[in-house]
Amino acid sequence: MKQFFKYVLGALLAALIFSTLISLAFGWVWGIASLAFFMAAAAARDSWQLLTLNRWLARHQASAGYQPGGIWSQVFGRLHGLERHAEQTQQKLRDALERFQRAGAALPNGVIVIDQSDRILWCNPSAERHFGIALKQDRGQSLTYLIRHADFAEYLQSPPSGHPFILRRVRGTDLSLSLEIVPLSEDERMLVTHDITQMERDEQVRRDFVANVSHELRTPLTVVGGYIETLLDGETLDAAMQRRVLSTMRSQTQRMQNLVEELLSLSRLESQHAPAPDSPIPVSPILQQLFQMARHLSEGRHDIQCLCDSTDSILGSESELMSAFSNLVTNAVRYTPPGGKITLQWRRERGDGVFTVQDSGIGIPPEHLPRLTERFYRVDRARSRETGGTGLGLAIVKQVAMHHDSKLEITSEPGKGSTFAFRVPQSRIVPGHEDHAPEIDQPHFSES
Ligand code: ADP
Repeated sequence: MKQFFKYVLGALLAALIFSTLISLAFGWVWGIASLAFFMAAAAARDSWQLLTLNRWLARHQASAGYQPGGIWSQVFGRLHGLERHAEQTQQKLRDALERFQRAGAALPNGVIVIDQSDRILWCNPSAERHFGIALKQDRGQSLTYLIRHADFAEYLQSPPSGHPFILRRVRGTDLSLSLEIVPLSEDERMLVTHDITQMERDEQVRRDFVANVSHELRTPLTVVGGYIETLLDGETLDAAMQRRVLSTMRSQTQRMQNLVEELLSLSRLESQHAPAPDSPIPVSPILQQLFQMARHLSEGRHDIQCLCDSTDSILGSESELMSAFSNLVTNAVRYTPPGGKITLQWRRERGDGVFTVQDSGIGIPPEHLPRLTERFYRVDRARSRETGGTGLGLAIVKQVAMHHDSKLEITSEPGKGSTFAFRVPQSRIVPGHEDHAPEIDQPHFSES
């Protein structure tokens, strides 16, 4: 109000002084004419500024640097201030929204906001992945229409219990999700999803492992326990029977001992996180030991060859490599019928060093190949047990290979034989001065 009087009275006073001076100088007619002219000029200026303000409001942007003067400067100044404030607020909101969207996209958990009718209002990329949906197309769709599962629909309708709901085989995939509903407002709820597929698989592997170990130990324990009962009952056994009983007890305890030793060695390998040591292990002596071992196990039943006088060395752990290679050799002897052929070989292939054990044994049907290195996986359980197998040998080989940045490659044909290749990368090979890596048709050791 004070400003209004200041502005209006100031303008009137200026007009009166100006017209009085004109009247005094040129007469009252000119005085009145100049007053009218002054008032008309003031009105024209205000109209012009009103028009400018109107234009600015219409374009929603101030004309930069425009200095109208007087009260209009204040009006425009304030509008500029308001505009700047609104822009800053908008920028802050944009930043916050962007931050929220970035956080939502980075979240490993899925988040879906749904309304009371389970319609999708918003979701993050993890939720899109978990449910196989796309926000762009599926916004507004009912979640229970997309995920047709009676228990899931019931869970969404029931009041929040604080307990997660487990949804398995989501939309026909292997995915398992843990879901939790969180109320957001009167008519919005948030569904948080967590991928538990790997956790469930690990849990299943753990359960299978415990069941397998118990199963493997139960049979020999039952046999040994049964014989001990018989002996405690004071039953008289003739000398031949006694020998048979004691020899069975010995072989069953040996079986349990093998199992425990292999379990311990597997657990040691699995708990190693550092890479294998890089001491150079000469290949030739290892292969000669393996060759002797194969001859000993075979007891003359197989034709065994060793192509192994290379001067290469492997950078790694001798005991681990020996354990892996001997498992492959033992298997070749165990799964090759008498009269079959077994070849041990070390060769270089594009810089890699490859240790192969080739046999002309029973072979492996292709559907079993991908699972052979799983703990306790056997193609023929009875045959494996008969020949003293624990089902852990190839799992150990795989762990040793991983520890040496190497790979186990298996090729096999049922009835024709198998080849197990342990491929060591060039980075773990120290080539000999003269590389005598032999050709397959030049046997250096052989046993028939
Ligand atoms: P196992 O102690 O039963 O031999 P492994 O882990 O060493 O356990 O091998 C897993 C399975 O792979 C064996 O039970 C057998 O069915 C198959 N297998 C391994 N080596 C050979 C081979 N040389 N020839 C045929 N089958 C093999």
